[in-house]
Amino acid sequence: MGRAPKSQRRRFGKGEVLMPPEPAPVQAISGCLEALQSSWRQEGSLAALWQDWPKLAGDPLSSHCQPLAMRSGMLTVGASHPQWRQALLYSKPQLLAAIRAAGHPVRDLRIQQHHPAPRQVVGDPLEEWKRHPSRIDVHGIAACPRCGTPSPMGEMAQWGHCSFCRRIELSELSEPAERDQ
Ligand SMILES: [Zn+2]
Repeated sequence: MGRAPKSQRRRFGKGEVLMPPEPAPVQAISGCLEALQSSWRQEGSLAALWQDWPKLAGDPLSSHCQPLAMRSGMLTVGASHPQWRQALLYSKPQLLAAIRAAGHPVRDLRIQQHHPAPRQVVGDPLEEWKRHPSRIDVHGIAACPRCGTPSPMGEMAQWGHCSFCRRIELSELSEPAERDQ
């Protein structure tokens, strides 16, 4: 019969009583998270790979190719376009090495064409923002023909001048309010 550790025994009369063990030290939340992540890694789960994907695959590749499935060490990566499929094939050895170096138990990598579900265009705020006239990275920049201020070209294409002039214009013709926005 094993004896309880000394910290759990208390003298009581001629005998001893057994005390409950001391509680385990409180583990920090971050520690729990790390433990969870390392257990993901050991299982070779897709969740862990998803999390590391942007870092592992690098910038243009990670947004055009995504891990789809992982079965007994075989990772399936989907590419959105034949061009990206080629790019992925080309960088497969480096990618595989990076994935393994990060601790993911990936044996091999399979690449397949993957068409992401079509996005809802109407009413999707992200899609609307992509085409928004104020995006200078999309439409470019030029001097407003009315005030001369460098402004997004998308605004000029839409209203003939910048959004600042547009606001002035709208306030000038306040009645009857003709707002086409
Ligand atoms: Zn202007």
